[in-house]
Amino acid sequence: MDRAVVLGGSVAGLLAARVVTDHASEVVLVERDDLAGGPAMRKGVPQGAHVHGLLARGLEQIEALFPGITQEMFEDGAEVADPGIDLRWFVDGQAKPPAGIGLGVSCTRPFLEWHLRRRVAALKGVRVVRGRAEGLTASAGRVDGVTLSGAEQEGEHVGADLVVDCTGKSTRIDAWLDAMGYVAAPQRKVNVGLGYATRFFARAPDERLGGARAIISITDDVNRARGAVAFPVEGGRWLVTVGGYDQDRPSSDPADFASRLEADPCVALRQFAHRDDVISDVATYRYPVSVRRDFYRCRRLPGALIGAGDSIASFNPIYGQGMTSATLHAAALGDYLGSGASPHEPAMRYFKKLRPLVNSVWTLSTSADFRLAHVTGDRPRGLWVTHRVNDLYTKATLQDATLHGLFLRVLNLQERPEMMARPDNLVRAYLAARRAPPVA
Ligand SMILES: Cc1cc2nc3c(=O)[nH]c(=O)nc-3n(C[C@H](O)[C@H](O)[C@H](O)COP(=O)(O)OP(=O)(O)OC[C@H]3O[C@@H](n4cnc5c(N)ncnc54)[C@H](O)[C@@H]3O)c2cc1C
Repeated sequence: MDRAVVLGGSVAGLLAARVVTDHASEVVLVERDDLAGGPAMRKGVPQGAHVHGLLARGLEQIEALFPGITQEMFEDGAEVADPGIDLRWFVDGQAKPPAGIGLGVSCTRPFLEWHLRRRVAALKGVRVVRGRAEGLTASAGRVDGVTLSGAEQEGEHVGADLVVDCTGKSTRIDAWLDAMGYVAAPQRKVNVGLGYATRFFARAPDERLGGARAIISITDDVNRARGAVAFPVEGGRWLVTVGGYDQDRPSSDPADFASRLEADPCVALRQFAHRDDVISDVATYRYPVSVRRDFYRCRRLPGALIGAGDSIASFNPIYGQGMTSATLHAAALGDYLGSGASPHEPAMRYFKKLRPLVNSVWTLSTSADFRLAHVTGDRPRGLWVTHRVNDLYTKATLQDATLHGLFLRVLNLQERPEMMARPDNLVRAYLAARRAPPVA
């Protein structure tokens, strides 16, 4: 095809643009924020101030698309480590045993995005345009371009053989479809009511937290679930995020931030309640609802229109699945375009290919969400069984490194969740769960 337009220059847009360059002479990446400059927070991605764990599967996919990028990030200050060994997991203050699962990278979200952006901008045929997508234009049953607004592009129309919507959770795709005479994709929602608060602290070279390079600590309480993480990131810093739900969401008050860490059951995290090397204010973020759009259920869609990333499905961020999902969407897009499909057709085959990917991640995260008393919305099927299995694994993975490894591979989207329910694994989990928990 001659020209593809990718809307949104964040993680999903950058990955989609990379894949589309294999099939289009020109790729126009449209982003409303100014993308010039280095790794910095920007308005369009406010979640960038908070912890962004990239799952092992996501890093594998990114490395395949951009060979050598893990090494580049390492050289620029990111920590590269095994998320099952160097990152220690705590449930109610009890440590899980180490279980290696591969390579992970620990850095801030702007840093990761900047590395992707540099690589994409250097690709042949890529043009980055600053502007806001205001609407799509269509002719002969397919999308044929995008109308832009913004300082440089007011009213400009960019013609396209294919438009990929990567404008995130707040996409206006429903209104754009409506304006072209199509019905929006059916949605499913889960009201999670999550809140995050984050601060940065100075980190000495090779500094450890109770022997660990990074920590995730969660409480197993359906009425007052809390979590806290400390990740080493570029620039010699600790990124510390605390999370809570519903009425227990953290505020931007430094005293609230400190008191949550002081009360954390993981002792190694409590030092962040009173360290004097704090180097940022408290940033907060509210995540009210997870949303997915099921395009595969649409009766009628215009041709030449694709969606990827959070515009298709956004999940409770505590499971860290968003960016890795975007890598899988990009891979599905590459397969679809590589299969010889005309970009001008309605992309039903692409959306059907996404269905099992989205189902798997959505079921994993929303099933866990529905254990919390306050959560409402579209309940996935088989919740009772999933909860029994998850409860079993919560206890068993404190005892058994093999099971913790399996759990981590499922969480990192390296293994299918059904593996946890395989009879031999269930028996092993049952026996492990009966053993006394280790001393904290
Ligand atoms: C608090 C929080 C924590 C998270 N933590 C993790 C984590 O630990 N691990 C993980 O993998 N994921 C995490 N996520 C999810 C992750 O941020 C997203 O999945 C990821 O950014 C991919 O999203 P995206 O590119 O689809 O959309 P976004 O990142 O939301 O980007 C959308 C882009 O589109 C641009 N845009 C929007 N509208 C227009 C328009 N009309 N015209 C032009 N440009 C437009 C925006 O400026 C932005 O650049 C977290 C999310 C939140 C909210």
